[in-house]
Amino acid sequence: RANDFEPELVACWKQGERVPFLFPCLAFHLIETEKIKSQTLITDIVCNMLRTVMYTTPDDLLPLVYLLAKRIAPPHEGLELGIGEALVIKALSDACGRTQTQLRKLNETLGDLGAVAMSSRSSQTMLRKPRPLTITEVFSTFHRIAKESGKDSQMKKLNHIKALFVAATDCEPQYLIRLLQAKLGIGLAEKTLLAALGQAALYSGKHFTPPNIQTPLEEAAEIVKEVYSVFPVYDKIVAALLSDGVWNLPKTCSFTLGVPVVPMLAKQAKGFSEIVQKFQNTEFTCEYKYDGERAQIHYMEDGSVEIYSRNAERNTGKFPDVVAAVSRLRKSSVRSFVLDCELVAYDRSKQKILPFQILSTRARHSVAMSDIKVAVCIFAFDLLYLNGRPLIQEELKVRRHSLYQSFDEEAGFLKFATAITSNDIYEIRKFFDAAVDGSCEGLIIKTLNKDATYEPCKRSLNWLKLKKDYLNSIGDSLDLVPIAAFYGCGNRKGTGFSTAMLKERSASLRSKVIPRPRSYYRYAGTKTPDVWFDQPTEVWEVKASDLTISVVHCAAIDIIDPHKGISLRNPRFVRVRTDKKPEEASSSEQVAEMYISQSHFPSKSNNQDDND
Ligand code: ATP
Repeated sequence: RANDFEPELVACWKQGERVPFLFPCLAFHLIETEKIKSQTLITDIVCNMLRTVMYTTPDDLLPLVYLLAKRIAPPHEGLELGIGEALVIKALSDACGRTQTQLRKLNETLGDLGAVAMSSRSSQTMLRKPRPLTITEVFSTFHRIAKESGKDSQMKKLNHIKALFVAATDCEPQYLIRLLQAKLGIGLAEKTLLAALGQAALYSGKHFTPPNIQTPLEEAAEIVKEVYSVFPVYDKIVAALLSDGVWNLPKTCSFTLGVPVVPMLAKQAKGFSEIVQKFQNTEFTCEYKYDGERAQIHYMEDGSVEIYSRNAERNTGKFPDVVAAVSRLRKSSVRSFVLDCELVAYDRSKQKILPFQILSTRARHSVAMSDIKVAVCIFAFDLLYLNGRPLIQEELKVRRHSLYQSFDEEAGFLKFATAITSNDIYEIRKFFDAAVDGSCEGLIIKTLNKDATYEPCKRSLNWLKLKKDYLNSIGDSLDLVPIAAFYGCGNRKGTGFSTAMLKERSASLRSKVIPRPRSYYRYAGTKTPDVWFDQPTEVWEVKASDLTISVVHCAAIDIIDPHKGISLRNPRFVRVRTDKKPEEASSSEQVAEMYISQSHFPSKSNNQDDND
């Protein structure tokens, strides 16, 4: 356990020396071979790893944290390794003397390039013992790989990978190859890393813990998670933890213009009466829920603009029209702002909102203004920063007032989200119908003054969403990650797949087929899929007519019942959620919550088990 662990007894390198890359690799190996799944235990292991590095070589803490986060830079900087499987295989082939065909075959059998790297490495006889790899060396090589561009860049990347691979020993090749593919395969969630980082900073014992802190470990973990949600920049967070400790972190790292905060999300509500009941003692507002793409727009003092996606990715180049619109429609008194909004496809000649599917036909990468074929309108619903002052601690009433004062509306370019303030259930119902008639998904209902601050990264009870689908099916759609598939046959009516869509999805998943399921996949034992998929990458939005208890399926097993899971009745594919990462798929807890909230309603099929 973390509290009876002494870093000085563990480190097998001298204080001040560069930390060997083998050190984290051995911890990963331990988690993997012992099949450790408990996030508490993983937190302890990662915390001990971080403490050891803090004790011996604090300068190596940042590269280690980045490796654990499977990143090389903050998401908004857009610096990614982007190494495809083909390049890894070529590098392995050059380094270990096996042909690419042999390696591909081996990959088909082992199902993991990391394991392929291990087995190829161990069959090599070494002429001389290589110099041990260090964390900093691996991290800086990853940076070099990411930055290579131009004519010979593939060759240069290949040489960097080869050099790392040749120097890797023991279990290092496995994790080196996985990290190059931005995965670790040990089930380490980013929030676990953040918690471990907070605890490690506390254990380092260098900084005074105020007496009013009752549960230091939990609170230290919470502080780092919260700070990261408003300021997701490890470089600054790690430096601040080392110099000023965890309790000062909110002062040293806070909301900063140009750095996207992780957006606030809404919880699902099942019906109108639930809303009135939940918010009975507080003033609330209902807004149209637009169906487009979430955007956080940062306008800097120098007039430059950045647009970030829901995942903090930089989307500025994709929306030059939005950049122009916000710059033109801000009031002259507005020198800087952060706007939270939905970008929606729009037909300006008919003054009509267009469906999400039309928006998704826009280019995925940077475009010139003249090449834009689908116009978008900005539907603005929140203002998080204005003229040098963060507003996230303000109540929505104040933020919204500032929003209305800061922009001019212009049809088809920028509108404030249509809203009413009423606690009359009939009025809300009418407003909901108007939203649906106006091509919106439903409503988002928000507290206005009590408990009404902006809560980054939270799926908050202070924002409720009510969608038209909720009223006649299970409620919200689920966001699911495909891990296996059956070769379909016959009629596909009712699955939601068009022939073109199905072709596209199977082409995309074909390269991810592995021979066996990953050790951490949980699945129904009675039906063996035809193919398994590696490293989850796609998130599919799926609707169903019902959620039912199942003795076969294992989603949310243990939450509702120790032996039964939850399955979907009549599942239907809606779309690929390109704006969501697999970690953002519906969690077991959310699935269980949906099942419970559904059981308030008459269900034809509870306790049936004829589901997919
Ligand atoms: P969904 O699949 O319903 O979009 P989600 O998980 O992406 O779910 P939710 O928090 O459940 O996100 O729904 C909120 C989303 O609705 C926001 O991320 C935003 O993109 C969109 N949205 C549209 N109109 C509004 C609005 N008026 N206020 C807040 N969010 C809005």
